[in-house]
Amino acid sequence: MFTAFLIKYAEIGIKGKNRHLFEEALAQQIKYALKRCEGEFKVTRTQGRIYVDALSEFDYEETVEELKTVFGVSGICPVVYAEDEGFEKLAERVVKYMDEVYPDKKITFKVQARRARKNYPMDSMQINCELGGAILEAFPEIKVDVHKPDVLLNIEIREKIYIYSIEIPGPGGMPVGSNGKAMLLLSGGIDSPVAGYMVSKRGVKIDAVYFHAPPYTSDRAKQKVIDLAKLVSRYTGPIYLHIINFTDIQLYIYEKCPHEELTIIMRRYMMKIAEKIAKDTECLGLITGESIGQVASQTIQSLAVTNEVCTLPVFRPLIGFDKMEIVDISEKIGTYETSILPYEDCCTIFVAKHPVTKPNLNVIKRHEQNLEEKIDELVQTALDTDEMIVVNWEK
Ligand code: ATP
Ligand code: MG
Repeated sequence: MFTAFLIKYAEIGIKGKNRHLFEEALAQQIKYALKRCEGEFKVTRTQGRIYVDALSEFDYEETVEELKTVFGVSGICPVVYAEDEGFEKLAERVVKYMDEVYPDKKITFKVQARRARKNYPMDSMQINCELGGAILEAFPEIKVDVHKPDVLLNIEIREKIYIYSIEIPGPGGMPVGSNGKAMLLLSGGIDSPVAGYMVSKRGVKIDAVYFHAPPYTSDRAKQKVIDLAKLVSRYTGPIYLHIINFTDIQLYIYEKCPHEELTIIMRRYMMKIAEKIAKDTECLGLITGESIGQVASQTIQSLAVTNEVCTLPVFRPLIGFDKMEIVDISEKIGTYETSILPYEDCCTIFVAKHPVTKPNLNVIKRHEQNLEEKIDELVQTALDTDEMIVVNWEK
């Protein structure tokens, strides 16, 4: 029965002079999400609102599901249009609407009319009263409550008349593309996909880098990361995923440095390489899935030592989250099932029994000197053999 959606957005409304840029980004992202739905749609911005009109048959459930993935959307209101054929006809249509949408009539309601065109022969107050009266007459069980109604029935008088009363919550946040771009260090775990989702939710476009170590890590592990990137791109839009061969660097560090320090030194090289790619691709920050104390390499001392190699800001949106809280989000966004597939991680294959948990920066730097110039060559080779793929969500 619905033929359109009114899209509500919250935070964009307060952006002053930049508001239209945000609205444009939002309309863009809505169009991107709708491309994945069956049917043809038109997206229009008018008077601080965005409308999605269905121009053909469409699948209601599917369309709502996709609109729910667009950051910046705070609410999705399915709309019924009525032609302006006089008030009688409108009242009939509204009564029919109430009947169809609320089969159970034990509800309270309030009519809220708005006139976007002032040449309508009745003012808003009159429309409220008259339509309210018509509904009460049609359904004796229904009651009016002007303070806390169960149903707020909106009537907007435009060229056509828009009827809506349902608001499905959107994800909130800011539209992707309204806040620059950052480079996500994406592994096959639970945390980093969630970290990417969270930063992107604030309007940041995401690129990603994955370090693999063939033959120690398998093609399946790599495919898992590509699959995770796909799932995340449902929200973020297309992701440029850089796949970096880390094997030689990892083996070389293993050969030259104390094994308890392997993880931390490796992580420093991952960050260095990620930052190089980030700077080459106009990313303004790095994103990781780290959270304080989760593992040895995420004690506050380890984080400080890892962070030391970076000049770009490193965003760690999960820093204060417990594992269970992160799992909850990953289930909600649909990455959990893939994340828990049991393929080996390049971080874990050479892990020492007792990794340092309180690394000292000076000691780490001294041991890194064992790596000499050769490490720079290996880093360069890794960058030169970057296998970049564009990842897009598909059902
Ligand atoms: P995750 O669940 O995201 O894998 P984790 O709990 O396993 O995180 P670590 O393995 O210590 O933690 O990794 C910390 C962060 O470093 C990850 O969240 C991710 O951002 C990044 N990272 C780790 N391994 C890789 C990798 N192979 N490629 C790219 N980034 C990685
Ligand atoms: Mg991991």
